[in-house]
Amino acid sequence: MTASYGPVVPTDHALAALRPLPAGAAHLTPDGLLGEWQDRNATATLRHCAEALEEHGNLANLRRVTGDHDGPFTGMWFADTDVHKTLEAALWELGRSPGRAPAFVTETAALLEKAQDPDGYLDSFYQAGHRERQWTELHYSHEMYTAGHLIQAAVAAARSAAGDAAAQQIVGVARRFADLLVQRYGTGGIDAVCGHPEIETALVELYRVTGHRPYLALATRFVGLRGHGLLGDDRFGPRYFQDHMPVQDADEVTGHVVRQVYLLAGAVDVAVENGDQDLLRAAERLWESALSSKTYLTGGQGSRHRDEAFGDPYELPPDRAYAETCAAIGSFQWAWRLLLATGRARYADEMERLLYNGIAASTATGGTAFFYSNPLQLRTGHDGSGEDAPSQRLSWYSCACCPPNLARLMASLHTYAATGSPTGLQVHLYAAGTFTAGGQTVRVETAYPWNETVSLTVTDAAEGPWTLALRVPAWCADARLSVNGSLVRAGAQEGYLRLTRTWRPGDRVELVLAMPPRLITAHPRVDAVRGTVALARGPVVYCLEHADLPATLAGEVFEDLELDPSVPVTAVRDEAGIAPVTLHASIRARAGAAGALYRSAADVGTAGTVAATVPAIPYFLWANRAAGPMRVWIPRTPPGN
Ligand SMILES: [Zn+2]
Repeated sequence: MTASYGPVVPTDHALAALRPLPAGAAHLTPDGLLGEWQDRNATATLRHCAEALEEHGNLANLRRVTGDHDGPFTGMWFADTDVHKTLEAALWELGRSPGRAPAFVTETAALLEKAQDPDGYLDSFYQAGHRERQWTELHYSHEMYTAGHLIQAAVAAARSAAGDAAAQQIVGVARRFADLLVQRYGTGGIDAVCGHPEIETALVELYRVTGHRPYLALATRFVGLRGHGLLGDDRFGPRYFQDHMPVQDADEVTGHVVRQVYLLAGAVDVAVENGDQDLLRAAERLWESALSSKTYLTGGQGSRHRDEAFGDPYELPPDRAYAETCAAIGSFQWAWRLLLATGRARYADEMERLLYNGIAASTATGGTAFFYSNPLQLRTGHDGSGEDAPSQRLSWYSCACCPPNLARLMASLHTYAATGSPTGLQVHLYAAGTFTAGGQTVRVETAYPWNETVSLTVTDAAEGPWTLALRVPAWCADARLSVNGSLVRAGAQEGYLRLTRTWRPGDRVELVLAMPPRLITAHPRVDAVRGTVALARGPVVYCLEHADLPATLAGEVFEDLELDPSVPVTAVRDEAGIAPVTLHASIRARAGAAGALYRSAADVGTAGTVAATVPAIPYFLWANRAAGPMRVWIPRTPPGN
């Protein structure tokens, strides 16, 4: 089998239960939702990001270093990373649609090369105006984080466009910076770590691209040095940047969410390349910790705005959810690494949940406006004037980490859908497209997640037995499988239905994943949503949005609305509406809500008399119409009301 492709490609020696598909072996088509998102990214988001880098001064910051721009530094001190992430996205896109590198890639590659110091250093904030502080404030500086994103762009360049001159230029720039890091901080060098992880995954991937072991050794060293107090106390204490305890010893995710999940993604990379089972187990243990008490229903993580942190266990307020887009992306990348390492379906389940909820909600339907934080509730009267929690998506942010992070994920989305081996294909995410492994090609046709049916047709057959493995999501209680029209009675094993046979072109497999609407309740310790229910269908979490209220309820205060769980929720198809499938629930307004803020406990109020059937829409589609209140967790009418 030819070499695997994508942002994460473990070496042949790595601990890996699954292998990413080779270049050109996975395609998403735009008639499916994931392919539609990928095309939207290519045509709208990527261009938007490139223009924003010009408009907001990120490229000008680098031109200050080369002497081609005379003006102040603008934006966050790690603004270079937005350039690197957009570049990475453009390079994955170049791999998807080979051709000449676009002007953004060639011009940016030349700019980075020109801006780089002779010793390999490249960070426009420190190079022009803050030279004296270079390498002196690693807890704060993001210098290695910035290097990490440059390296990730180089990984995309090497894997997607190796023959392109601009791609080679980017790889050269990144390697010179990586070599400088090895020289300064490698074995025998300075004991230090970066306040914001990212360099760990990047260095492991650069090792995977180049085979140069010092990059892996440095990543291993950074993971090992963390948790020993090298970063000091700073404003939020060592837990903020996971420097309070070594990764191997930690039993709880903590601190700044993006830093934590990036660190743990890096820990998995280091563990699998070094055959370090203890470190891999630690990453799995911490994943359990996150998923059991510190993750929103949407897959989002982080309930603290102040320090962008995981809160306490079960501290998951929907209206104050921070749930940064980058945290969801980082969590997706962490889960992908754990899936590759272990083959456990639960990690693919989580990727799916993140994709259709926590991640998808961040982007407007047009692809050029984004959420940074992703609350599960927007209240009536919310002050959305601040960037921290706007009422609608914004086109850019003063800290614009999220939009280009979305762009690079979406540009490489096809590489996450399936894995393969010489004797089979494992499908993890269902989307219209084609996938090839071991000489066999399968065409997938589906309107998932709106439709329950996934049809797979063999277009090129392998010689001899070949196994098709299809994930059965944990939310699905009834999966039916047929081959060429005949029902196959096979139960899912460890989350996958496996079909082994000698296939012929034209063979057709049909998987039906029953998607009845589900009413979900949270663990009782999640005080913030006690007494409420959420709606879901398949992998999609739904929400109630003000725009969908009928006239009879439109005058009510949105927070007074309750869902009557005794009336069945129905899925309704509406191809012309905002969503192909909405969930219709019986909603009524609570009477007696007006009155004192605090009152006798005996006064429980009564259900209102006006009830109406209201369509709930997929959470990820909220805030695409006029600004107004929204909620995922809906108070339930108490029994007897
Ligand atoms: Zn972000």
